Amino acid sequence: MRTDSIILQVVLDTPLRRRFDYFPPAGGGAHAIPGQRVLVRLGKRRAVGVIAAISDRSDLPAARLKRALEIIDAEPLWDPVTFALLGWAADYYHHPLGEVLFAAIPVALREGGSAQRSELAWRLSGSGIEALASTPRLGIRQQQLIELIGDDSISNEAISRAGLGAALKALAARGWLESLERPEPAPRAGPGRAGPVLTRDQSAACDAIAAAIGRYGAWLLHGVTGSGKTEVYMRLIERVLAEGRGALVLVPEIALTPQLVARFQERLTVPVVSLHSSMADGARFAAWRAAATGAAPVVIGTRSAIFTPMPALGLVVVDEEHDPSYKQQDGFRYSARDLAVLRASRAGVAVVLGSATPSLESLANAAAGRYTKLSLPERTGRAGKPRVGVIDLRLHAARDGLSQPALAAIERHLAASGQVLVFLNRRGYAPTLFCPGCAWIAPCTACDARLTVHLRHARLTCHHCGAEQAMPYGCPRCGNELRPVGEGTERIEALLAQLFPSAPLVRVDRDVIRRRGDIERALNSVVDGHARILLGTQMLTKGHDFPDVTLVVVLAADQGLFGADFRASERLAQQIVQVAGRAGRGDRPGEVLIQSAYPEHPLLQCLISEGYEGFAIRALEERRAAGWPPWSHLALLRADGPTRDEVHGFLREAQALAPEERQRLRLLGPAPASMERRAGRYRAQLLLESPARATLQRFLSEWLARVEELRISRRLRWSVDVDPIEVD
Ligand code: ADP
Ligand code: ZN
Ligand code: ZN
Repeated sequence: MRTDSIILQVVLDTPLRRRFDYFPPAGGGAHAIPGQRVLVRLGKRRAVGVIAAISDRSDLPAARLKRALEIIDAEPLWDPVTFALLGWAADYYHHPLGEVLFAAIPVALREGGSAQRSELAWRLSGSGIEALASTPRLGIRQQQLIELIGDDSISNEAISRAGLGAALKALAARGWLESLERPEPAPRAGPGRAGPVLTRDQSAACDAIAAAIGRYGAWLLHGVTGSGKTEVYMRLIERVLAEGRGALVLVPEIALTPQLVARFQERLTVPVVSLHSSMADGARFAAWRAAATGAAPVVIGTRSAIFTPMPALGLVVVDEEHDPSYKQQDGFRYSARDLAVLRASRAGVAVVLGSATPSLESLANAAAGRYTKLSLPERTGRAGKPRVGVIDLRLHAARDGLSQPALAAIERHLAASGQVLVFLNRRGYAPTLFCPGCAWIAPCTACDARLTVHLRHARLTCHHCGAEQAMPYGCPRCGNELRPVGEGTERIEALLAQLFPSAPLVRVDRDVIRRRGDIERALNSVVDGHARILLGTQMLTKGHDFPDVTLVVVLAADQGLFGADFRASERLAQQIVQVAGRAGRGDRPGEVLIQSAYPEHPLLQCLISEGYEGFAIRALEERRAAGWPPWSHLALLRADGPTRDEVHGFLREAQALAPEERQRLRLLGPAPASMERRAGRYRAQLLLESPARATLQRFLSEWLARVEELRISRRLRWSVDVDPIEVD
């Protein structure tokens, strides 16, 4: 139907892909703009929606169209580029736009609250001023409060922080104070402390990017850990700030890098806000708002910060661009790294992707000329790269996980008052509980997985579904004594404590680092030199530098050599290089030892002799030969349900909906996931592969619309993952 009037196409916070048509509220049509929230009636309830688009037609007859109740926002919530990015992302990742938009705004806004933020403040009322003129007798606290307020107004929060809440109550009750709402103050700016003189490489990188900063360009900044990448980001940000623009900086995990935010705040003379998922709703809203209004022109955030509205964006930075945490792994499965490049190109600004271990995708983009690569091959103020060696586990049996040469090296470095870092990407005491009598292995009843032994609480836990049980006293089948086999960080900690009793040890993994502040405490004791041995999982590979660590020992590297996923070797190489790069600064030479039962493995050999870049060249060739990304484009249709038959049945029906004739697109499966049963559900998938992104996208749009119509699709859980980072 065509109407002469305006139709609002509204999306709601639901998994429904459809838009709902409404007439604008009476008299409100002229002011409607996509990106504003509206209040609408949906059946019997009221719902908050967002105007996705404005049209002059609807498929519904005018008689069935309702009026929206109210347009909530005077202005759209996003700047046009960010709003367009959200729409594009919903299309590309095939996720309902309503969910995408609502996930991108602060909680208070999802519920329809005002997008303006204000705070409650107090000032003297007329009668208060009058009463004070006659110098009344006041309590000490009341006197203090009157002085604090003076001729001004003071926020409610500042008053309670000063401990004057009771005085406030008393004076307000007498009518001497009155409240007012005022705009929330802008976040504070930093002192703008000067940075170091740049090295030659840093200057070259800054100059190259700065010369082209006012237009789109993608830069891959490959700089070893400690080479001063962050310094380069800050110089570029100063440049864009001088032009009155702002910068968006994405980092993998802010909880692990509070020093980074502090470093930016210290250096820049404008307000800097951070945005990440572990913030309280209120603080997050305040930061979002400060970014959206331009009050804080610099935003440092994790993945979801890519959708922060910023009115005058001048630069996008993605630090540690290889990090898998940039890809959301459930629900709306977007890649913030990829969207960062798109956002920059839409905004017509530069994007800098920095890493010591760039992803193979980004290296391929650089090789193809889509990105410009810049290198910082040397650490600032440090001589030489660490020596890297492999300990052959076939020659040197490992007692409880640590081989003799590794132990000897630890002893040597401790004696020379170096610090030692031991990396093992497996928490718990042992990954397996085994019966030597009958070969029983403690299984998770809900997953195709073994239970991990956690000795400290004498419990067995499943690292896949979280199931937990007390440790059995003996084998449930034959009564024999059970034995923990293999090792996790808890076991290595016990061994090191026993062998090196006078070397204080700090362990860093998710079992011991639970609250905010835990990680800082642990790392401070390493940085201040109290701890001599630092032991941990991949938490150690992110963000922190340990200047006095002279030895890095990598345990159980072999898991990554034979991982089922095609990215397993890339991840392993990145972890080894990242953890090795955390160590050593100043003039002490570093040493890295990798324990492996497969020392001749080409990946290890290549990594040791040619470094990360040599590895990457080789790995990219292997990917090309096998037809994996970046030489092809993938999508997964994943499903899980209570029975295998149902899950495979759904995937087969979905497969049958694909046209027989398919050009340049392969549909593989259904295949069970590598862990077929998890948390009691059977998991399987279809893999789609095409050499052309556009072909894959066209196919998905048509195909998924039909898959959604399948009756069986409502009986189980299924999802699409475009550009998956794990396919096993
Ligand atoms: P990256 O981000 O590459 O790991 P950083 O920018 O954090 O490296 O720099 C590592 C360390 O070197 C920091 O302590 C930083 O203050 C220092 N640094 C960076 N650039 C210089 C420089 N040009 N001169 C002296 N010190 C520098
Ligand atoms: Zn047994
Ligand atoms: Zn389990």
